Amino acid sequence: MVVELISVGTEILMGNIINTNAAYLAEQCVRLGLNCYYQDVVGDNEERLSATLKMALDRSDVVILSGGLGPTPDDLTKEVAAKVAGLNLYMDEESKAAIADYFVKIGKEPTNNNWKQAMMPVGSVIFPNHNGTAPGCAIKTGEKSIILLPGPPEELKLMFEESVVPYLTEKMPSAIFSKTVKICGIGESRAATMIADLIDKQTNPTIATYAKTGEVHIRVSAKAEDIATAKKLAKPMVKELKEIFGNYIYTTDDDVTLEKAVVDLLIANDLTVGTVESCTGGMVASRLINVPGVSDAFKSGVVTYSNKAKRKFVGVKKTTLDKYGAVSSQTATEMAKGLSAVNKADVVIATTGIAGPDGGTEDKPVGLVYIACQVCGKVTVKECHFTGNRQKIRENTVVSALNLMRECILEYYSEKTFR
Ligand code: ATP
Repeated sequence: MVVELISVGTEILMGNIINTNAAYLAEQCVRLGLNCYYQDVVGDNEERLSATLKMALDRSDVVILSGGLGPTPDDLTKEVAAKVAGLNLYMDEESKAAIADYFVKIGKEPTNNNWKQAMMPVGSVIFPNHNGTAPGCAIKTGEKSIILLPGPPEELKLMFEESVVPYLTEKMPSAIFSKTVKICGIGESRAATMIADLIDKQTNPTIATYAKTGEVHIRVSAKAEDIATAKKLAKPMVKELKEIFGNYIYTTDDDVTLEKAVVDLLIANDLTVGTVESCTGGMVASRLINVPGVSDAFKSGVVTYSNKAKRKFVGVKKTTLDKYGAVSSQTATEMAKGLSAVNKADVVIATTGIAGPDGGTEDKPVGLVYIACQVCGKVTVKECHFTGNRQKIRENTVVSALNLMRECILEYYSEKTFR
C-alpha cells in the first residue's frame, strides 16, 4: 500500500515553519509497513491543492493531508478534498457538539466560523479531535482513501494514534510488527559493519539503521498475516542484535529515550544523581529532568561556566586550572568530585569542553570535551573529539554524558542485569 503525504500551508512552503508533521507521519507510516514514495507541500491555494491531490491519488493508495482544517476562509483543505472526491459537505451534529464542548472546557465563546469545522464530507469516517476543534476524516474515492488531519502537531499526533492507525491497519492486507533496537556508543557505519551479514541476507524481517545524534537505531520489521506471527518472526532477529551489540543497546522499547533509560537505571539501583556542567550549560540536567519521575533520583545540578564558578561552587583547585586548563581530564574529575562533596549524590556527571567557534588551540581544538562520571566514589573520565558547529558539539556531549552515566552504572553493578 503506497501512502503519500501532502502538507498544506503557505507558511510551510515559505519556510516559516519546519514541516515536522511530514517527518512524524512518514516515520509512523513506515513503522506501519506502508510505502512512502512521495511527499508534497502546497500553499493555501484551491487550484494548486486540487491539482496536487489529483496527482497524488493517481499514484498512491492513501493520501494524507495535514493542515487547512481551521475556521477561516483560507482553510480550504476539506472543501477541496470533498470537491475532488465529488462529495458534498453536511453539518455533522456530533462534531458540532464536540466543538461546543471544547469551548465550554476552555471557557471561551465559539465564533460563527467555528461551525465550519463541523461541516464534513458525506460518507466520510470522522476522526474526533481530542486536543482542539477541527475533526479529521477519511474519505473513500474509488479504491483510494483521502485522510484529512489538522495542522497543529499535538492535534495531528493524537488523532493519528487514536484514529488513523486503526483505520489504516484494518485496510492493510498483512500485519507489520516492528521493534527498534536503540544503540549508543558506536557510530552508524561501525554498527552497519557489525551487522553487514544480517543486512545482506535480510528478507522477512527486514532491518534498517537510522543515525540519530550520538545514537543509532536499528528497526526490525516483520510482515505476516497476523500480528502474533509477525512478532514471532521478528523475535530471533532482535535476539541476534542483542547478542551482537550487548551493552551498547540501551533499550528495545520504542517509547524509551536515552535519558529515560538512564533514569530507570538510577531508580532501579536506588541511586541519586547530580550534574555539574560547563560547555553543556545545563542541557544534561534538562534532558534528565525531561523524564517524569526523575525527582526520586535528581538531587541538584550546577552550571559552572567560568573558572571562578568552577572554583567557587565545586572547589576545583586553582593549581589544577592553571596547570591543566579548564578543559582537561583533571578539571572534569575535580568538578565531579566537588559536586558530590556538596550534594552527596551517588552519581555525578561533569562536562567541560571547547564548543567553539572560538577558543580552540592546536593542543586543544574546538570539539575537545572531557566528561567525568563518578559512581559511588569511582571516577571515570572520557575524552571526546566532536566535529560540527557549537550546537552539534554540545548535543553530542549531552548524549555522550548520558551514555557514560549508563555505562558506568552498569559497570559498577555489573552483577545486575538491567534490561
Ligand atoms: P487551525 O484550526 O489551528 O487553523 P489547521 O488545521 O487549519 O488548524 P493550519 O492553520 O494549517 O492548521 O496550521 C496551524 C498551525 O499548525 C501552524 O501555524 C503551525 O504552527 C502548525 N502546523 C501546520 N502544519 C504544520 C506542519 N506540516 N508541520 C509542523 N507544524 C505545522
